[in-house]
Amino acid sequence: MPIAAPSPQSWIKTSAAGLYCEPGDFHIDPLRPALRAVITHGHGDHARPGNARVLATAETIAIMQARYGEAAGDVLQPLAYGQSLAIGAVQVRLAPAGHVLGSAQIVLDYRGSRVVVSGDYKRRPDPTCAPFEPQNCDLFITEATFGLPVFRHPPDRQEIDKLLHSLALFPERCHLVGVYALGKCQRVLALLRRAGYEEPVYLHGALIRLCELYQRFGVSLGPVLPATGVARETLKGRLVLAPPSAIADIWSRRLPDPLVALASGWMRVRQRAKAAGVELPLVISDHADWDELTATIDEVAADEIWVTHGREEALVHYATTKGYRARALRLAGFEEDE
Ligand SMILES: [Zn+2]
Ligand SMILES: [Zn+2]
Repeated sequence: MPIAAPSPQSWIKTSAAGLYCEPGDFHIDPLRPALRAVITHGHGDHARPGNARVLATAETIAIMQARYGEAAGDVLQPLAYGQSLAIGAVQVRLAPAGHVLGSAQIVLDYRGSRVVVSGDYKRRPDPTCAPFEPQNCDLFITEATFGLPVFRHPPDRQEIDKLLHSLALFPERCHLVGVYALGKCQRVLALLRRAGYEEPVYLHGALIRLCELYQRFGVSLGPVLPATGVARETLKGRLVLAPPSAIADIWSRRLPDPLVALASGWMRVRQRAKAAGVELPLVISDHADWDELTATIDEVAADEIWVTHGREEALVHYATTKGYRARALRLAGFEEDE
C-alpha cells in the first residue's frame, strides 16, 4: 500500500531567519547568517552576506562575490538549472525564475511531496535571463510585490519607445534614467538595443561592475561607457543610466539639462513618479504583475499557496476563491522593490 506523502507544512517551516527546510537542514534566502543557505537570486534582500555554505546558480554566486567579496560565504556551491542534488533527505533542483540573471526557483522534493519557492519572478520575456519555467507542485510559495489587480504592466517595447521618442524630441537634453543596478539596468540596455538604439549609453560608476558581469556571462549590452569624466557638452542628447538614488543628488547636476526618467513597476503609480521628481515614468518591472501572478498560480496547480513579499491579501483572496488553500507568509526583511 502506498504511503501518503507528508504535507508540505510538516517539513517547510518559517523561523526568525526565514524559510527553513527541516529534512535538509537549510534555509532559503535566510534573513540572518545561516550554516547552509540556498539562494534564489542576487538581490540584497534575498542574497545576504555571512552564510557558511551557499548553494545557488553560478551566476548568483558570481553576483554575491562581486557584491560581498569574502563575505559571500565560506563554501560556494554552484548548481546549474535542471540539475538535482541531495541535501540530507531532500532533493534540490533549480529552475529559471525569469527575474534577473541567475534567478532560480528552488524545487524541493521530499518523500513524494514537492515544494517550490519561486523567489522573485516574472513571466514576460527578458533578453538578459532565462525564462520562468512553471513547475507542478504541492505547495507554491509566491511573491506578491505587485499583487493587486490595478498592477498591469504595459509591454516593455511601448515604454522603451516612449524613451526613444523623448530623446528625439529633446536633442539638447541629457536623458537620465534611474535603474536598479542588478537586472533593471542590463534589461533596459538590452531592450534599447532590440529597439535599434546603437549609440553608446553612459553609466554611473555604481552600475559598471554588474554590467561587466552580465557581459562575462554572454549577455550583450551594446556599447557602454562610464559617465564619469565625460564633458558636459558630450552628454547632450545622450542616455545616462544611474541608480535611482543618484538621480536626485548632486551627481546629476553636472549633466546638461537632464530629463529624469525612472524604470520601475512603481511608475504605474503617478504620485510615486511625481514625488520622486520623475518627468518620464517608465513602467518596466522585473516582478510579475497581477495577471502574471494569477496565471502562474493557476498553472502550477498546487493545492496550497503561500504568499509573501508585498500585497499578500488580494492574491490570497484570489487563490482561495479558486479553491486553493492559501495564506500570507509574513516574512520580515524583504523590500518592496528589487
Ligand atoms: Zn525580492
Ligand atoms: Zn529580486
